Amino acid sequence: MPDSTIDYQKLRLDGIYQQNAEGDLMLRIKIPAGVLSAEQAAKICDISERFSNGNLHLTTRGSVELHWLDYASLATVAAQLAAVGLTSRGACGGAVRGIACSTTFAPGFETAQALARRLHRHFAGNPHFEGLPKKFKVSVDAGYQGARHLIQDVGLVHVGDRHYDVWIAGGLGREPQPGFLFEKRVAEERLIPLIEAVVRSYRKHTPPPKRLKFLANQVGQERLRELIRDEQTGAPESFAFRLLEQSLTPSPAAAGIVEFPVFAGELPAADLRRLAAIAAELGGGFLAVTANQNLAFIPVDGTSRQAIEAALAASGLEAAAPGAEAAFRICPGSHLCRMGLALTRDISRQVLDALGPKGRMLSWAISGCPNSCAQVQLADAGILVTKAVKDANGERQPRFTLLRRQGEGFGENLASDLTLNDLLQAVAGLG
Ligand code: SF4
Repeated sequence: MPDSTIDYQKLRLDGIYQQNAEGDLMLRIKIPAGVLSAEQAAKICDISERFSNGNLHLTTRGSVELHWLDYASLATVAAQLAAVGLTSRGACGGAVRGIACSTTFAPGFETAQALARRLHRHFAGNPHFEGLPKKFKVSVDAGYQGARHLIQDVGLVHVGDRHYDVWIAGGLGREPQPGFLFEKRVAEERLIPLIEAVVRSYRKHTPPPKRLKFLANQVGQERLRELIRDEQTGAPESFAFRLLEQSLTPSPAAAGIVEFPVFAGELPAADLRRLAAIAAELGGGFLAVTANQNLAFIPVDGTSRQAIEAALAASGLEAAAPGAEAAFRICPGSHLCRMGLALTRDISRQVLDALGPKGRMLSWAISGCPNSCAQVQLADAGILVTKAVKDANGERQPRFTLLRRQGEGFGENLASDLTLNDLLQAVAGLG
């Protein structure tokens, strides 16, 4: 049972949600730019095996979640994370969340990664940017592939020479809304003061628990621009970046990445421990969490790539063969989330079985409630659980909306209020 002496709402700023009605806890760990050192990965495995259930969940924003934690373990867990330079501060609640970084590994990934790490250091745990009306999401992408800039409060897209297009006021949830282009080609050193001004405007003018997109709708884009300009008046115009500011991994060279598939982002700690050992020995010491909830090695050259693939095969862990499986982002749904309306992992397996050859070529996503943590609107084909209705036996049955994305914006509804059987029939014909 939940402990009545614990203020679960306050715990959120430390990256902790109440996972279920029994009072078990979920901890979300920020992974700066989604890049994890072998040592950090091994520490997360230790914590998972000692305090959680020996599994971990990779999110679409490059964070790692642990479930089934006790309140009594939290202080020890926080200290152990701090020992390897990790924190969960601001990973939930009204704060600047983990800075998501490009995992398309497009040219410029290295530059985007260095900026994401810089923004993480500036905003994580900074009290000036906590206690916000709701979450505030920032991403850095190396290019426009994937369109993740559209769903952020601030989405930064590298356009070359350490300059970024800045998009603001996007978000998903019950009222999905793509962000709009605030300013083109902003120099890197101007970004922190600009993001600070956006956060201050948001805090000052938005009622809880609304996001920046609500303010944009209420006052209009032009007025929001003025509010942000007001906040910039008198504030520093730029922040010096250090000469040694750098990424932890190189941009993938011609050798590309070696991707390790993690179905639904659900990974036994024992597997991560073995992957971390391979990364330490052969992969430059780091692993990246991808937007599709997989893990990636970034080999420095073709020889290193072959060595990583051989080590994976020798330990019984197979790298993904290109195109072998449809890419499928899957939120935990009611397997692990209190908001979940359906067993998303089970349903996604049924969907995969139902797909035809053309459907398997698409990227897929399923979210267990309208919050859309799996970013359903950005997949080629998306499945959203919108509600659960009681059947004749009193059991709750999910209803689905099927979306299809073909342009540059969000996916559009193909069909709504589908039963599971309707959904499986509909996806079978998709391509
Ligand atoms: S989309 Fe809903 S069910 Fe899925 S993880 Fe997010 S809040 Fe939970």
